[in-house]
Amino acid sequence: MTERVVIIGSGPAGWAAAIYASRANLQPLVIEGAQSEENRIKGTLPLGQLALTTEVENYPGFPSGNLAAYVGSAVKPERGLADHTGHGITGPELLELMRQQAVNFGTRIITQDVVDIDLSQHPFKMKTDDGYGTGQEVEALAVIIATGARANYLGLPSEESFKNNGVSACAVCDGALPRFRGKPLVVVGGGDSAMEEATYLTHFASQVHLVHRRDSFRASKIMSDRVLANPKINVKWNSVVEEVLGNEKQGVTGVRIKNIKDNSSEEHLVSGYFAAIGHTPNTDFLKGQLKLTDKKYLVWTTPQRTFTSVEGVFAAGDVADDYYRQAITAAGTGCMAALDAERWLAAKNLH
Ligand code: NAP
Repeated sequence: MTERVVIIGSGPAGWAAAIYASRANLQPLVIEGAQSEENRIKGTLPLGQLALTTEVENYPGFPSGNLAAYVGSAVKPERGLADHTGHGITGPELLELMRQQAVNFGTRIITQDVVDIDLSQHPFKMKTDDGYGTGQEVEALAVIIATGARANYLGLPSEESFKNNGVSACAVCDGALPRFRGKPLVVVGGGDSAMEEATYLTHFASQVHLVHRRDSFRASKIMSDRVLANPKINVKWNSVVEEVLGNEKQGVTGVRIKNIKDNSSEEHLVSGYFAAIGHTPNTDFLKGQLKLTDKKYLVWTTPQRTFTSVEGVFAAGDVADDYYRQAITAAGTGCMAALDAERWLAAKNLH
């Protein structure tokens, strides 16, 4: 059977595309990614980056308040959501609700990765794998790529062990959490993201140590100047984080920083550690078949459209956006991609 629309990826862009495509009677197939150890380590499990965060306070329609009853009634118990005890929606809950909404309209789902894709012939062909050697072959008339991006981390074992317990790569997502309020924090990086994260975190933190490995920022002058003028930000030049300190109960309690010029080390008490050393879009599986930017993001070839360099292939969400990177913008472009795909299929008499 040839699918009409295959959506690859399962973050907000993928589910928004699935909701729109299924309501247009296209019966889309979502290839949501494999539940594999490799994906866990890479940060590319199904449901994407948002599933790695805690509360989501900026997605319209989900004000704080106890949403336990709603989440419990809308999402099937076997999806294994922990009891909702917080106030407001969490990333995993929001994604489970989107996933369920897509399923309710007839979306089908394969919990596997696309490991091979051929966009040189139409219908497009792809092969999937569950991460353990079992997969299938899929053919599609239109493809929406919504595979997102993953945050880069330094790769320290201590960083890994405190993820979601004081270690984050998203100040906008996590900065306002109680554990970071009124406490010293550390941000790593010297680009615009690090400037933005450090500046943003000063709204909550008592002090922000900004650790950068060189003696000048990569960031734009205006954003660098803002950081340098902020009395709450303490820049640690020529420095690297050697270890994130903490314990299981409290999470992050400090960092050990090394000055790479004189090899001296110092420890700082901090309650949070934010990596802002860039993101990597999940485009490797495309093996160069679609036009990418120099940072390997998918290129939208027509302004205000989700078209890629191959007709019939559309891109949505962070995989094509290294600038906004928000759940709501990803969902918006997912909707656009579904509408673009539907209209393209109709124009080709394939709908
Ligand atoms: P980026 O510009 O690539 O900067 C990454 C920073 O992390 C660099 O300073 C780099 O150091 C550092 N870094 C990378 N790997 C590291 C490692 N292993 N250890 C220590 N430091 C490491 O990435 P970005 O800041 O995420 O920005 C991405 C793009 O988005 C840029 O084009 C940026 O302008 C844009 N952006 C714009 C805004 C805005 O205008 N509001 C906000 C955010 C991002 P080196 O400098 O030594 O290489």
